[in-house]
Amino acid sequence: MAESNARYYADKKAIGGPSSYGGGDFITAPEVSQMFGELIGLWLADVWIRSGRTEPVHYVELGPGKGTLARDAQRAMARYGLEPRIHLVETSRRMRDAQLASVPGAIHHHDLSSIPTEGPILLVANEFLDALPVRQVVRTDEGWREVMVGLGEDDRFVEVPGRQPMDSAVPEARRDDPPGTVIETSPASAAIMFEVAGRLIDQRGAALFIDYGYRHGRSGSTVQAVSGHQSVGVFEAPGDVDISAHVDFAQMEQVVRSREARVLGTVTQGEWLRALGIRERAEALAQHSPQHREALMRARDRLIDADQMGELFKVMGLVAPHWPEGAGFPNYQAERPMTG
Ligand code: SAH
Repeated sequence: MAESNARYYADKKAIGGPSSYGGGDFITAPEVSQMFGELIGLWLADVWIRSGRTEPVHYVELGPGKGTLARDAQRAMARYGLEPRIHLVETSRRMRDAQLASVPGAIHHHDLSSIPTEGPILLVANEFLDALPVRQVVRTDEGWREVMVGLGEDDRFVEVPGRQPMDSAVPEARRDDPPGTVIETSPASAAIMFEVAGRLIDQRGAALFIDYGYRHGRSGSTVQAVSGHQSVGVFEAPGDVDISAHVDFAQMEQVVRSREARVLGTVTQGEWLRALGIRERAEALAQHSPQHREALMRARDRLIDADQMGELFKVMGLVAPHWPEGAGFPNYQAERPMTG
């Protein structure tokens, strides 16, 4: 999965265009509407202001795609006097070029290790964790084995159980699950969460992870592949199609709690965007450009409706110890509405 995605993001035009939803293999929330990045920018500005406006301050985005979210967030943050340095963590050269066109002056990083350690970080990752590789174990008649990729007939990739017993890697409560049960984990995602939580403790700040996934433990494989907006077989064309997996937010929260960073909660994207005022924002934009009203309302619905991106996508919020609650999460109580 890691190898396939590295090649895929290096060579392919993955993400579809903003105005029509066509082109590319998939479309992401920032490409659906500018409202998405703007509301994220406002959320960050709000916590930063209420935490005391510490400078220097760093905007950090993981896997920024075309740089659209960063650009929209930057514009919204600037309206509230927040002008952070922009750091983009991106491995694909092709994506880096697109990002610099959207956010001139952004600083690129291969991973989190080179991000400055002085001043709070305001970190955003949209559809990033789902691209990181997962591991799976399966209960066979001989016990638990890792799910490996081998060669089948015609030299095609197939899933095969590994030879090494993996029983000790399975939590005791799950060891007697019926044969055929698959347990999926993402050590790469857990490592990122661990590192981000550590950064929040050491240098303060806040983080938003947005992705499709589930809030409560679930078993079974969630690995999927898409090409040209259609679902395809995972082994059909490695390197040419996007391979992703659902994010296990309960597990991500557990990793963060194992350090002293604070989890604000994981809510659905629909709830979160509504709480942040997406309906009011869409209405204001429509009043300003009546000729775009229909498209704006369609984009809003696409982001928040339960049968579109509203339920499947979740937003997980994290903050440094002693930082304020964030808008749209369970413990937040608005002191007074933001204006402007
Ligand atoms: N956040 C963007 C793009 C999502 S696609 C959006 O919402 O539109 C995933 C992004 O993560 C791409 O930019 C891809 O190149 C990048 N990416 C994938 N694996 C990565 C890794 N291991 N390290 C850094 N970036 C990665």
